[in-house]
Amino acid sequence: MLKDQDRIFTNIYGMHDRTLKGAMARGHWDGTAEIIKKGRDWIIDQMKASGLRGRGGAGFPTGLKWSFMPKESDGRPAYLVVNADESEPGTCKDREIMRHDPHTLIEGCLIASFAMNAHACYIYIRGEYIREREALQAAIDEAYDAGLLGKNAAKSGWDFDLYLHHGAGAYICGEETALLESLEGKKGMPRMKPPFPAGAGLYGCPTTVNNVESIAVAPTILRRGPEWFAGFGRENNAGTKLFAVSGHVNQPCVVEEAMSITFEELIDKHCGGIRGGWDNLLAVIPGGSSVPCVRGEKMKDAIMDFDYLRGELGSGLGTAAVIVMDKQTDIIKAIWRLAKFYKHESCGQCTPCREGTGWMMRVMERLVKGEASVEEVDMLWDVTKQVEGHTICALGDAAAWPIQGLIRNFRDVIEDRIEVKRGVARVAAE
Ligand code: SF4
Repeated sequence: MLKDQDRIFTNIYGMHDRTLKGAMARGHWDGTAEIIKKGRDWIIDQMKASGLRGRGGAGFPTGLKWSFMPKESDGRPAYLVVNADESEPGTCKDREIMRHDPHTLIEGCLIASFAMNAHACYIYIRGEYIREREALQAAIDEAYDAGLLGKNAAKSGWDFDLYLHHGAGAYICGEETALLESLEGKKGMPRMKPPFPAGAGLYGCPTTVNNVESIAVAPTILRRGPEWFAGFGRENNAGTKLFAVSGHVNQPCVVEEAMSITFEELIDKHCGGIRGGWDNLLAVIPGGSSVPCVRGEKMKDAIMDFDYLRGELGSGLGTAAVIVMDKQTDIIKAIWRLAKFYKHESCGQCTPCREGTGWMMRVMERLVKGEASVEEVDMLWDVTKQVEGHTICALGDAAAWPIQGLIRNFRDVIEDRIEVKRGVARVAAE
């Protein structure tokens, strides 16, 4: 189990003082100017060496992403944009940072922006996060008052402004280019890539979009050294990570743990075990609603990191939002509900997603009742394959994968239900 002294987020449960004074007492904002004075290249090299992979779901190496930003300005400003939209069902980790430990994020914004030559950073926060916005804004105001933001921020010699922008509550605005559109005051619709944001992002200027947790862990990594961070987890899956465990465990929680912890240890140590015991575990969605579910018996020994969940189980770590379902769950209905969510949140810009999400949801609706033929299950599978990878943004994949996971892992349940329904109809007819 991760030791307390190795936790980056020391106030994730809000038990301590979240103000600047409290944050400083816990070691934040310590030597920020010295870190910045070591220079851009040093910061990016350290981030690369730490092995940090983006915490927003895709798992792209953070240091490498930062290095894509132009070293010299061609006259255009550069921006850091922090994605605090956190709308993926099951995911509730960034909100804990913003409402209880906001200075980790604010200090991270300053350092990361400096490393990317940005004098301004925007945090785009989810529309429903009212209290989180208030807490974060109060912390930003405090930081300005203390000279940690603004001209010569934290006496580093770097002028830096940090803005908090409140979204209106659309899931698609968590997609980085839709987020940029929304930030510019337009409808939140994803852009075609390329150009990538590092070339032409916010207002057509070089921009990096990073998740809250990715930015909030950076100052501690730079203070404690990349070797320390890389010492947790398996190779290529370094660091500590916030896991958000929900569903049928005895104590759902958000907890910081070492990457590559086993699922069993995560659940038994922090969540009081599975409701009704391990034999009662039906399925797990290990990385937020868009990754495929996994059968319970395959999950017990699973290693909770990017490579294992994708390579061995055909799922993903995603945002590490672990949704646990016990045997009382109607798994078909649970996945139908996700299909309904993605249909609702599709921006409608591309045909496979706009039409496909609705089509998939309607077939799922009938599967819940068993009112379909077995052949339609194959047809549904084919449709998910026609949506996957054929859309402008990843929402198409996000809508297809949960259904693929259901068919791959629980085809027997789907077919049984169809059979039962037929049997009932037959008896009624007789
Ligand atoms: Fe919009 Fe869906 Fe296309 Fe993404 S995949 S751009 S959400 S229609």
